[in-house]
Amino acid sequence: MDITEIRIKLLPQRQSFEDRLRAFCTVTFENAFVVRDLKIIEGQNGFFIAMPSRKLTGRCTRCGSKNNLRARFCNDCGSHLKPRPVTEDNRLRFHADIAHPINAEMRRKMERQILAGYHDEQERSKQPGYQPHTFPDLDYDDPPQDGDRP
Ligand SMILES: [Zn+2]
Repeated sequence: MDITEIRIKLLPQRQSFEDRLRAFCTVTFENAFVVRDLKIIEGQNGFFIAMPSRKLTGRCTRCGSKNNLRARFCNDCGSHLKPRPVTEDNRLRFHADIAHPINAEMRRKMERQILAGYHDEQERSKQPGYQPHTFPDLDYDDPPQDGDRP
């Protein structure tokens, strides 16, 4: 399956160590299927791609309402919420991938092409008259938070 278009939205570089999100990315496969909200993150060992993900929620055992996993008390009834499940390395999981490659070959292919697209976009952004891609229907307001990812 080939990636036929990559759109990169560069984010302003911020200096804080925690804020390593460098760009959002929308990818089209085979001119037919779009996956948006991939993230390009600068890790300690180089750049990597984070797949689009959704926030996990937990249900209140008293009233059944869904709550953010970070919540300690139910939004609806105020009950104290039970401690949340942790991963094997003992970290809380707050997000789950919505779309992702299922083998290493596809993951490498996507990373290679997307990171090449990111570096191209960075070069383009240095040219006079640079026009960033527009993402009219997207609402990027939920960058990953500290502790979300290994
Ligand atoms: Zn409740």
